[in-house]
Amino acid sequence: MVITSSGIQSHIGLVREENQDSAGRFPEHASGAVANSAQVFAVADGMGGHRGGREASQIAIRILGEKFEAEPADGIPDRLRSAFEAANLAVRQQGEANPEFQGMGTTLTVMVFSGDTVCAGHVGDSRAYRISAEGIVQLTDDHSMVAEWLRKGWLTEEQARNHPERSLLYRALGVGSDISVDVYENIAARPGDRFLLCTDGLTNHVSDEEMLEIVMAEEAQEACERLVDLALERGGYDNITVQTIVVGP
Ligand code: CA
Repeated sequence: MVITSSGIQSHIGLVREENQDSAGRFPEHASGAVANSAQVFAVADGMGGHRGGREASQIAIRILGEKFEAEPADGIPDRLRSAFEAANLAVRQQGEANPEFQGMGTTLTVMVFSGDTVCAGHVGDSRAYRISAEGIVQLTDDHSMVAEWLRKGWLTEEQARNHPERSLLYRALGVGSDISVDVYENIAARPGDRFLLCTDGLTNHVSDEEMLEIVMAEEAQEACERLVDLALERGGYDNITVQTIVVGP
């Protein structure tokens, strides 16, 4: 598998005083053949207090990078789980050690391309999608109360979209001593497929159909910029972060 191009864009949005989203790719200029080493893409959406959210999302991305730069001990799914556990611990310890950061947490959504396989790891309400000529598929489940109520049929899509508590999470990094990580193995990827990672600052304003249309029409970086611009045009009150990855043969 080859990563033929990738794009990244993050914006503070129109209302917040700070961008508490973080994004990372490891190695930093990840593109080209995915040989034995893993190529890792991630977004994190921090929450809690003044400065805390930014600190939490930055810690999560940093720990993830360290874990994947270290020599691989075992398979990607296990490395993902241990990276999430280490990030959870690091955010929690920093929160406990510093009153300024108390109660902070973060989402973390990660895609790893290695050899012929694609895996994802996920906690929170950031999202990973696969996009191809056949359509757009959300690969991750949102760990928000509203998404859970929607899955149970207690809310309609319309009610969920405008729900006042839609940012309330039941799972996030840094808020408990144990973390349950959703790990997706063997994600299908064919030449020409695109993958998108984003925080809820995008999905609050931009529909899946619009993401499909823009990502299929534009180069990887231009797609990220157009998606962020669209969210801003529609009010963009939250921080907005997007990454796109295009795979070749
Ligand atoms: Ca957010």
